[in-house]
Amino acid sequence: MPAYRAPRGTRDLLPTETPAWTRLERLAADLAARYGYQRIETPLFELTDVFERGIGEVTDVVEKELFRLAPRTEDGESWALRPEPTAGIVRAYVQHGMQTWPQPVKLTQTGPMFRYDRPQAGRYRQFWQFDVEAIGDPGPAVDAEIVELATRFFRDAGLADVEVSLNSIGDPACRPAYLEALIAYFQGHADALPPTERARLARNPLRLLDSKDPAMADLNAAAPRITDHLCEACAAHFAAVQAHLTALGVRFRIEPGLVRGLDYYTRTAFEFYVVGREGQQQAIGGGGRYDGLVELLGGRPTPGIGFGIGLDRVLLALAAAGIASDGGAPSPVAVVVGADPDDTTARLVIATDLRAAGIAARAELSRRKLGKQLEAAARDGAHFAVIVGDELADGEVQLRDLPAGTQKAVPLADLGREVARSHGAHHHGDGSGG
Ligand code: AMP
Repeated sequence: MPAYRAPRGTRDLLPTETPAWTRLERLAADLAARYGYQRIETPLFELTDVFERGIGEVTDVVEKELFRLAPRTEDGESWALRPEPTAGIVRAYVQHGMQTWPQPVKLTQTGPMFRYDRPQAGRYRQFWQFDVEAIGDPGPAVDAEIVELATRFFRDAGLADVEVSLNSIGDPACRPAYLEALIAYFQGHADALPPTERARLARNPLRLLDSKDPAMADLNAAAPRITDHLCEACAAHFAAVQAHLTALGVRFRIEPGLVRGLDYYTRTAFEFYVVGREGQQQAIGGGGRYDGLVELLGGRPTPGIGFGIGLDRVLLALAAAGIASDGGAPSPVAVVVGADPDDTTARLVIATDLRAAGIAARAELSRRKLGKQLEAAARDGAHFAVIVGDELADGEVQLRDLPAGTQKAVPLADLGREVARSHGAHHHGDGSGG
């Protein structure tokens, strides 16, 4: 047993795993850019207040799962690691006066989130989210646009069968009356409520609907549905979101129990599941509209909508579906080898010049025999071996095409150009030939 291990609920992403991550991060960045989202980076921690207000104190995320940082200053400011990105992004929107920018402001971020949750498969204390936020547009068209973007991400990532669950959770005009009906219903069944749910009833009745407690399943199935209590404006908004999704060819399932764990959501709420993995009760992404959040964090009333996709879970789903990304170290184009074991200088200088010319090169710095060096270069998948020998005194090296088994003398001054040209001729179009 090693003396130190990564903290519980966290993982090291090893070089065998990072190519799959890089692929997803690139896909996220490419899609976000194609849809007009610009990158924003906010701190990994914020004043605790930003999360308590922005997410709501009566949520698991804040109540139980917030990673609080011990205050180190006299003024005792209280910070916490971000459990999700929206509150921080909206804090930045308000702080930097983005309300005066052309609306909506479309922002994207991909990075680690932190929740002090009980670790299990697909549930980590540090996990990654691909997030987009469109702030300043009341929808409903942008709601559908954002859901479609998420489904395209899953499809392009290689997950063919992702289901969209959709709901509207109303707004301050219609939710209070619905909450009354919901509270009355649960009070009528108080005896059947598990104690934790009974305690929540007074503080956040909506939360009972997404309870993971199996004892709640039947009760929730018969509970009053928010979609039967929407005001006219919310009902029209919800209908229009659905019509837009249908026009975009996005299939969805209305899920009246979908309320999301976070307080600031209004109207549109959605989650994504991999078909066949529902049993895990683990969404691979989710999001919704948060028309009250900007004002809550000190800005003018401004509508907004966004989603967060859990990259860890996307990768688990890809692995479960047998969709692997090619791992392994990238092959160098050229390996610089030499017969004189002491002359690492010449090999390193030549490799450095090749790298400066944009060519992936490795200098053989070991003291093994030339034959072994050449074997290692071939094993690495290199296209060329640059053999440094006595001709170096005349400004020349031998350039061996390893797969072809041919070799010729090349003036050092032409080496970069020659390697790029020959490599490009074999691999035209892959852009690595310079
Ligand atoms: P949420 O804000 O809870 O809806 O989270 C958005 C997405 O992040 C979820 O759909 C998951 O894919 C992912 N996620 C949330 N919590 C975790 C966690 N503890 N570990 C891994 N992924 C998570």
